[in-house]
Amino acid sequence: MSTINIAIDGPAGAGKSTIAKSVAKELGYVYVDTGAMYRALGLYFLRNHIPAEDTAKIVKSLPEIDVTICYENGEQIVMLCGENVNGLIRTEEVGNMASRISPIPEVREKLRDLQRGLARKENVIMDGRDIGTTILPDARLKIFLTASPVVRAKRRYQELLERGVECDLNEIERDIIQRDEQDMSRAVSPLRRAEDAVLLDCSDMTVEETKNKIIALLAEA
Ligand code: C5P
Repeated sequence: MSTINIAIDGPAGAGKSTIAKSVAKELGYVYVDTGAMYRALGLYFLRNHIPAEDTAKIVKSLPEIDVTICYENGEQIVMLCGENVNGLIRTEEVGNMASRISPIPEVREKLRDLQRGLARKENVIMDGRDIGTTILPDARLKIFLTASPVVRAKRRYQELLERGVECDLNEIERDIIQRDEQDMSRAVSPLRRAEDAVLLDCSDMTVEETKNKIIALLAEA
């Protein structure tokens, strides 16, 4: 029996993971956070002092980097070479590094198979930048979730504060705008709305309203 997949793409801080988690919980789907996989690779290169510009070294080291995911009490755990790195990948530094290495085709290929394999096994709601366009072109429902830059910066700020990470709102706004530019302008799998994706601007919507809207859209799909 084939699985049912939902793809959610959109810029940084739009609320993709919060929304996807709550839809997954309601529908009994598995939530797959693909950004966490890019972040795990970013963490590896930061730790090993391999700069994002050194594409040759990055590509050469990819075979020795083991990124897998598992689930504990419904939460996605990203394992980097056998280590649970969930608690280490949510910083802006790691997010930026993830964005800077994400244009490298070999990096994307490495994660593509892992992501598609998960979607083949279970009903998933998967969030990222290229899920609707590249990873799951046949997803039952595709959402392009967005919100204004100010709203997105505030949400990211709040999320970091709740995690106890010290941060500056203006810096976060600058960071997410820069990251969006990087993600939209890369040659391979840039961030863009798939032609058949529903555009959802959740600037003035609560999590509950956005979740209900997606569930209603799935029922129609
Ligand atoms: O979603 P998150 O902010 O955790 O993603 C971190 C970075 O990883 C993004 O800015 C983007 O550059 C990259 N990414 C990607 N494709 C995905 C998911 C994330 O290029 N499917």
